[in-house]
Amino acid sequence: MASIEENLEAVRGRIARACREAGRDPSEVALLSVSKTFGADAVRIAHAAGARRFGENYVQEALDKIEALADLRPALEWHLIGPLQSNKTRVVAERFDWVHSVDRLKIAERLSEQRPASLPPLEVCLQVNIDGGPTKSGLRPEAVADVARAVARLPNLRLRGLMAIPEPTAGFDASFEARRGPHRALRLLVERLRADGLALDTLSIGMSADLEAAIAEGATLVRVGSAIFGSRPPPPA
Ligand SMILES: *Cc1c(COP(=O)(O)O)cnc(C)c1O
Repeated sequence: MASIEENLEAVRGRIARACREAGRDPSEVALLSVSKTFGADAVRIAHAAGARRFGENYVQEALDKIEALADLRPALEWHLIGPLQSNKTRVVAERFDWVHSVDRLKIAERLSEQRPASLPPLEVCLQVNIDGGPTKSGLRPEAVADVARAVARLPNLRLRGLMAIPEPTAGFDASFEARRGPHRALRLLVERLRADGLALDTLSIGMSADLEAAIAEGATLVRVGSAIFGSRPPPPA
């Protein structure tokens, strides 16, 4: 099995190649290493190999790792990419740097109220249900503009852009062109918000299986888990 260091190198190579093919500068695409289900030791290895941004899905699991890796702060950025319930917003506002999964105004309001004054604004993205998956979290595309305008006014948050998790099954046999559909839809949505006057710079889309398609459509941050850390055990039923 390849090591975390080798995997990171391979993922950086994929990002560089995808940027070259898209005529983009690789410095425009940030890599978020998704460490969910892997321990603090794995994060430490990735950090030693140059990774600086880490994505977590489960709040309690993330807090344990943030604690265990406190000696690496402030060189590590912690990004919450999983669902966020109202009863967890306080610890998230206190301990994370980014939240990609804001899908309601009420969650954003709580995060802004609870962000400690000693910290810089919390960086946030709105999660969009871009391909209409019935069970998926995320705002409906039609609802995004109103929520984005309201979130952009909250004092202790900085609205950076949009995040989506396209349905993986939709793409596996599809052509590269067809796979870009949801990525393109998210890009068009962010462009419309910019035209409306919101200063957004982040398109958080693309994972291990589809980062090339995402970069071709303008992703500025790709969230890569299994291609770096290996396959995960299935989530508890
Ligand atoms: C797990 C997860 C990822 C990483 O997925 P991989 O397929 O392992 O790269 C990215 N984004 C979100 C929201 C996730 O939950």
